[in-house]
Amino acid sequence: MSKIKSSNLGYPRIGESREWKRALENFWSGVISETELIEKTTEIRLRNLKKQQEKGIDLIQVNDFSLYDHVLDTAITFGIVPKRFNYTGGKVDVHTYFAIARGTDGAVASEMTKWFNTNYHYIVPELNDVTPSLVENRALTFYKEAKDKLGIDGKPVILGPVTFVKLAKGYDPQEFSTIVETFVPLYIQILQELVEAGASWVQIDEPILVTQLSKEEIAVVEKVYEAFAEHVPHAQIILQTYFEKITAYEKIVNLPVKAIGMDFVHGDSLELLKTYGFPKDKVLAAGIIDGRNVWRANLAEKRTILEVVKQLVHHNQLIIQPSCSLLHVPVTKTLEQKLDNVIYDGLSFADEKLDEAVTLAKGLNHGTVSVQADLDQANEAIKQLIETYQSNDEIRKKVAHLTTADAQRSIPFAERIEKQKQRLQLPLLPTTTIGSLPQTPEVRRTRTKWRKGEITDQAYEQFVKEQMKRWIKIQEELDIDVLVHGEFERNDMVEYFGEKLNGFTVTEFGWVQSYGSRCVKPPLIFGDVSWDKPITVKESVYAQSLTERPVKGMLTGPVTILNWSFVHNTTPRYEIMKQIALALQKEIESLEEEGITIIQVDEPALREGLPLDRKKWNEYLTQSSQAFRLATATARADTQIHTHMCYSNFEDIFDCIDDLDADVISIETSRSHGEMVSTFEENTYQKEIGLGVYDIHSPRIPSVDEIKQNIKRALQTIAPNQFWINPDCGLKTRKEDETIAALKVMVQAAKEVRNKQLASQK
Ligand code: GLN
Ligand code: ZN
Repeated sequence: MSKIKSSNLGYPRIGESREWKRALENFWSGVISETELIEKTTEIRLRNLKKQQEKGIDLIQVNDFSLYDHVLDTAITFGIVPKRFNYTGGKVDVHTYFAIARGTDGAVASEMTKWFNTNYHYIVPELNDVTPSLVENRALTFYKEAKDKLGIDGKPVILGPVTFVKLAKGYDPQEFSTIVETFVPLYIQILQELVEAGASWVQIDEPILVTQLSKEEIAVVEKVYEAFAEHVPHAQIILQTYFEKITAYEKIVNLPVKAIGMDFVHGDSLELLKTYGFPKDKVLAAGIIDGRNVWRANLAEKRTILEVVKQLVHHNQLIIQPSCSLLHVPVTKTLEQKLDNVIYDGLSFADEKLDEAVTLAKGLNHGTVSVQADLDQANEAIKQLIETYQSNDEIRKKVAHLTTADAQRSIPFAERIEKQKQRLQLPLLPTTTIGSLPQTPEVRRTRTKWRKGEITDQAYEQFVKEQMKRWIKIQEELDIDVLVHGEFERNDMVEYFGEKLNGFTVTEFGWVQSYGSRCVKPPLIFGDVSWDKPITVKESVYAQSLTERPVKGMLTGPVTILNWSFVHNTTPRYEIMKQIALALQKEIESLEEEGITIIQVDEPALREGLPLDRKKWNEYLTQSSQAFRLATATARADTQIHTHMCYSNFEDIFDCIDDLDADVISIETSRSHGEMVSTFEENTYQKEIGLGVYDIHSPRIPSVDEIKQNIKRALQTIAPNQFWINPDCGLKTRKEDETIAALKVMVQAAKEVRNKQLASQK
């Protein structure tokens, strides 16, 4: 191989203005036919390919497009359809495909879960009761399409068998090796057909190789790739990894494949290369452009790294590419009209990232002079961004001089709680909710109108006030002890703060697929973060003015704000997390000044932000709890700090949760109450806690007995004077009547248990 090539690992599916989403949703609601759906999505797919062709990407990926999810695509390639969808074999039709993803009246959808440490969700394959067979070689279909329609010799991508089976469920882990083996001949067939059709390269994604695998599992990987080499010797396989460095590097790098793809942005792959070398007979596909972030790359810096990498591989056997699929970033920055020039120039979305990869490859092939102008431009853009927005001396000094004492409440929990009890006068087993109340179609419609300028600020504010007023009354009538204002003014718990803190901005079209047709638009953190003016005070104070009962102030915590934003990378992440914490500190102080007595700081993203590399856990957890404590440190001793997290499996992070030093925590548990309670048997927790007593994710109204059972089970391990009673998450997705009915039952159950407790204490 004489020339260093540029490559892509996946292009966003959603289209420049989410036309993909519209096509899908129109099909689901019956507005367009299947033929129209196929036409529209084919058009999007071909346009995506064409763009890459025009940019001069050497290895353009095919089979990365999807109508929902690429893991589901892999499942249907092998006819893996759960029994309940009445599949009878052959190519899986579109209706069955969407039924698996979304459920039908008669059959529940397959489970969905997060793709590694990203915010993309995949459909979990169910391997029970199915015998996989190759029912549709999708990689081949899309390879041929690109070739016939655009003359592209594409690089088909398939999800590798080891990762696929690891991510699937419905089998005994003891059987792992056997199950993987059943897939091997099917993959061999796919590879054979691709080679026959003329594919020069085939990329097999095995991101699981960056996680901790057992010896046995590594042996399975070896067996699989040896079988491929033996049966399809002419396939030029790129074994692709991303999101972290490869864990069993020495083994993996020696597998009989043509190329190894590694992430040079997340995880220290360069160090591996330097320490253990790279085989002479292989091509290295270097993921050097950050596929997880939206900021322009410092091309000169990247270029320096690549010069080193180039020395470590044999004869230019190098491919330059993004660190992972560009599925995780928005399509193009060129549509953004409202950003200032400095921020705009500092951005790079999918299209721009591909240009960066092409530039770097060109520079390596033709010498620096050929790309000097591009290097200079990138450098200048980044310099401007830093000078203009990342040089707030005051906040930087503050962060630099923080001490442990700055992240500590004034007195320990045991003393604080006495003061809080004095001030709040709550009953035993107090009842509350998590924060949001139903966002009815009317609430959403009104916000959209306001955003479009169709109604005035005043009219919108008035509308939000009416919602709060109505719901304070409802909560009082339900006899809930600690009320919420309902979050009617918020569209999203991170974007809301992003719009109001310095250093943040929101884009117009910066959408990224989250699951299915659902996209999110994370805020951008482009500069030093600081607090400008009160964010939530007006609503909280208004709601509190309507009632004698405490109404919780409601904030999103520093870890969640950071994890759910696109954060610039010229300042260490943890420093920015502290900047956010200091900003929230001010917000808490202003809520207190206005008489708010309980403040909840939500951290739903804390657990999912855990790094893939376990060696990095400790630092992450320590930094996270410190940031949370910093945000809440200056709160008065008698201000009660609550927090909320929505997951039940938190054994891994129990110490961190304790470390947050929140006075009250509420956790989502209703779907696995028993497990949760057992965590408390093994660990002692002194502070107050609410384990969600019913599941808000279902429209079903729980019975009084059910909730009482949940409460009683918790009270076997948690003292009654520590325990709170609440639903397991925010109520914004539920209907109003469901919500009221369920809360009524919850309060009833709480009262019955409370009275019994009080009677027995006498
Ligand atoms: N306070 C937020 C709500 O109730 C918490 C959301 C969450 O847990 N993700 O909606
Ligand atoms: Zn939640």
